[in-house]
Amino acid sequence: MAEGIGRVVVVGAGLGGLAAGIKLKQAGAAGLTILEKASAVGGTWRQNTYPGCACDVPVALYQYSFFPGFHWSHTFPRQPEMQAYCEMMADAGLREHLHLECAATQARWDADEACWQVTDRHGTVHAADTLVVALGQLDRPKLPGIPGRDTFAGPSWHAAAWNHGIDLAGKRVGVIGSAASAVQLIPEVARQAGHLTVFQRTPNWIGPRRDQAITVEDKMLMMTDPAMVMSLAQRQRDMIFDNADTFFWQAFAWTPQGREAFAALARRHLEAQVSDPELRAKLTPAYPVGCTRFLFADDFYPALCRPECYAGDRTRSMSVTGVRREHIADGAIHDLDVLIYATGFETTGWHWSTGCDGYWRHTRLADAWADGHGGLARV
Ligand SMILES: Cc1cc2nc3c(=O)[nH]c(=O)nc-3n(C[C@H](O)[C@H](O)[C@H](O)COP(=O)(O)OP(=O)(O)OC[C@H]3O[C@@H](n4cnc5c(N)ncnc54)[C@H](O)[C@@H]3O)c2cc1C
Repeated sequence: MAEGIGRVVVVGAGLGGLAAGIKLKQAGAAGLTILEKASAVGGTWRQNTYPGCACDVPVALYQYSFFPGFHWSHTFPRQPEMQAYCEMMADAGLREHLHLECAATQARWDADEACWQVTDRHGTVHAADTLVVALGQLDRPKLPGIPGRDTFAGPSWHAAAWNHGIDLAGKRVGVIGSAASAVQLIPEVARQAGHLTVFQRTPNWIGPRRDQAITVEDKMLMMTDPAMVMSLAQRQRDMIFDNADTFFWQAFAWTPQGREAFAALARRHLEAQVSDPELRAKLTPAYPVGCTRFLFADDFYPALCRPECYAGDRTRSMSVTGVRREHIADGAIHDLDVLIYATGFETTGWHWSTGCDGYWRHTRLADAWADGHGGLARV
């Protein structure tokens, strides 16, 4: 058993908490308790079940190097595969430490005992020498402040709380939003709906995803020569990491060459997929690349080109009138049966679902971490 790792409480069993659990166990933590609010592990990948939900990072980079999965069907794994991966991680020796439906409600540093006292929602207190907080950040769906939103008479929901009970076939569906979740779900909704209206506020810079199926032959190779496959995967990971690092740094560090390379990639993608100049203009961002997240999608633009799809203008104002299920944007009235919000998450303002308090020397932790959690010397 490694020296120095005592009892650990991990709060949250998304990918972060699961990885911490596996590594802490390998390192010989004297005691390991993982508290999870939900009834299953997975975090983001459990919560988001909208059609088309997938990882937008190649799996060679997104999966953990110490926990390779061999079940992937595509370079960019779909949500059910990601959720299965999380369950596999839990099965790798974490179940006995895992407490589901057991949200942590309070973590208090006990200076006298020099340990954390973590209280769960059942009132049980777990003592820990180390507290790992893996609560995630993207779990508070954000709904826009559209006047009349609550009066929409048909079903409506946020992408992160997908209503699988409603069949979209033949329905007039509105999707508000055109960013990361929207570019994944719009092609799926477009395939099912009778008519789709996309309400876009700001177009995004979008490049090709170039997703590829992982063939049966690839999988057989993985089974028969895992060492060779892992060494290839490691090389691929290094390559993606180096390229992405250089490439993204160029764009976000505002080098003219980096920005132009990203913008040219996105412009070529748009031109190749959208021939209608009016639609192309609507989908062309009027701000420099790098100001918002650069997206990768192969089937978003083609979905917008379908005859039964209408992409709204840059929407500045909207209102909803409940009785006739109308949605009004830019002066036009759209009759809709279903309204879907792909409007992202609350990301600003630090939020912990666990109260965290106690004193380190003379500093109150809740005060020290009021604006965000950083390191306190030797805490
Ligand atoms: C739709 C969507 C798609 C995404 N796609 C990508 C992608 O393609 N690539 C990428 O890099 N990132 C992506 N992300 C970001 C993604 O959130 C991270 O990659 C990663 O999955 C986060 O893992 P996590 O464990 O930190 O947090 P989460 O997955 O959010 O897990 C946090 C866990 O903590 C639990 N919890 C919260 N409060 C408590 C409490 N008080 N007590 C106990 N448990 C609690 C939650 O129930 C949850 O299970 C995406 C996010 C979303 C929302």
